[in-house]
Amino acid sequence: MYKKNNNYQNNFIYQIINNDLKNKKYSFICTRFPPEPNGYLHIGHIKSICLNFTIAKNFNGKCNLRIDDTNPIKENLEYIESIKKDLIWLGFKWSNNIKYSSDYFDQLYKYAIELINKGLAYVDELTIEEIRNYRGTLLIPGKNSPYRNRSIQENLKLFKKMKLGKFPEGSASLRAKIDMKSKTIILRDPVLYRIKFIKHHQTGNKWCIYPMYDFAHCIADAIEGITHSLCTLEFQDNRLLYNWIINNININHHPKQYEFSRLNIEYSILSKRKMSLLVNNKIVNGWNDPRMLTISGLRRRGYTASSLKEFCYRIGVTKQNNIIERALLESCIRDELNKSAHRIMAVLKPLKIIIINFPIKEKKIKIIAPNHPNNNMMGSREIFFTKEIYINKLDFIEKDIKNSKKFTLKQEIRLRYAFVIKAHKILKDNKGKIICIYCTYDANTLGKKLNKNRNVKGVIHWLSVSYSIPAIFRIYNNLFIKKNIDNININYINTFINKKSLLIYNGFIENNILKKKENKFFQFEREGYFCLDKKDSNKKNLFFNQITSLKKNF
Ligand code: ATP
Ligand code: MG
Repeated sequence: MYKKNNNYQNNFIYQIINNDLKNKKYSFICTRFPPEPNGYLHIGHIKSICLNFTIAKNFNGKCNLRIDDTNPIKENLEYIESIKKDLIWLGFKWSNNIKYSSDYFDQLYKYAIELINKGLAYVDELTIEEIRNYRGTLLIPGKNSPYRNRSIQENLKLFKKMKLGKFPEGSASLRAKIDMKSKTIILRDPVLYRIKFIKHHQTGNKWCIYPMYDFAHCIADAIEGITHSLCTLEFQDNRLLYNWIINNININHHPKQYEFSRLNIEYSILSKRKMSLLVNNKIVNGWNDPRMLTISGLRRRGYTASSLKEFCYRIGVTKQNNIIERALLESCIRDELNKSAHRIMAVLKPLKIIIINFPIKEKKIKIIAPNHPNNNMMGSREIFFTKEIYINKLDFIEKDIKNSKKFTLKQEIRLRYAFVIKAHKILKDNKGKIICIYCTYDANTLGKKLNKNRNVKGVIHWLSVSYSIPAIFRIYNNLFIKKNIDNININYINTFINKKSLLIYNGFIENNILKKKENKFFQFEREGYFCLDKKDSNKKNLFFNQITSLKKNF
């Protein structure tokens, strides 16, 4: 039995497993993660991955990766590769070889024949549309199909005919014979097999009938010896069908399905189908667009695997459907990077300062700046104070406002790690745009505490014009302007796109960045946490993605 050591491992599923072990229901725990390869994995999947894989690890069991490929579509090889890559990146190891639902197509076919032989399945020749109409609604009971009472022999013959490709697509299906009047719509003679003349990436042209998810899933679980089949709450009703199938076929192992609530995050979509729409309609730049909460998007944005797992452990696993604040996700990466990220200075919206009293003889004044304010072990770097520097435009205001902390004319401000400067004159072009600010610096203020009475407005970050290099900074905001967007009809999604979800700034960064190529993440002082975008950066242009701001500005 596994000993609980924190809240996460006290969740209701861990409790069920602990009880099952205590009661000797099982001695070996086996879970699985069964993604359908119809898109890239997202943060919702991480919740499921963390649950399934930590159970396997903590209970000395195993977790299978099963590609749920019952619905062949052309693109899925790319998706399968991305699923493997994302799991490895998260640091989880699946047991033995990757499993595919299609590995079991032969066995599934035999179980379908078994159901027909037991009088529990029939070949229906209603069209998909007719099947839908016959099914009824929550208020109206379903109607039996006219083909429902075919003889076993006839069903066997017709099912084989389906397999041999003698029926056109959509003209026949295999259905379970359960109860068209059931209160649970899923039990109204669900379709088990449909015809699709599509080549499958694993089985080629061997099959033209493919099993439905509900039929394949439970049998695959049973074949693999899964003990706890964990899925999200929408599958609660499917559990009845899951058990019906397992109970009606001759199979030794009977896995049990448990449901937990899916992850929803405010201002985001977590559905591969809807995400693929954003990709196809070019609302985002691909599945790994840093605004997407796909694993590949989050990775490119600069989220670490550990911060994403930490997020899942913090939100826990329950049966309550809710929507998680973005702030919680951000605080996980902020907490991590606050400790580990090197500090460096970058100016996103540059404003030039000219130090009029800079000593003529000197070209530069060397300053040692720590890489982390509270951790000497992270070392230091040289920065240079020169006659021309950049500050952020937003730190300066032309006219002072009462109680404002901003730098303005006749006022002093401290440059981070460096001197106090004072603004004297603004130089503007003929359109009134500020070109630069003339300032003086106080040579006696380097590394010195100031007299309390001295009215210095604050501390701002800065860069030497000569010791910085240009860079492009990308600031990301929520992709949607609506908090609860996942429930919105796919056709209306465009209405809720945030037009300011990507802001691009051409600014500058300390040239020390060139020596820090091995560092992945940085805190640009006062600007936020950033990472280099390796995909877009080249020798000429450096692109940085903002991972998150410094403060919780929600
Ligand atoms: P999507 O709507 O994104 O396609 P899905 O549930 O169809 O999601 P699958 O690839 O079938 O995606 O899911 C694999 C596993 O991940 C399933 O067990 C599913 O329950 C789980 N999962 C998917 N989305 C979430 C989510 N938002 N929160 C928690 N678990 C999820
Ligand atoms: Mg799906």
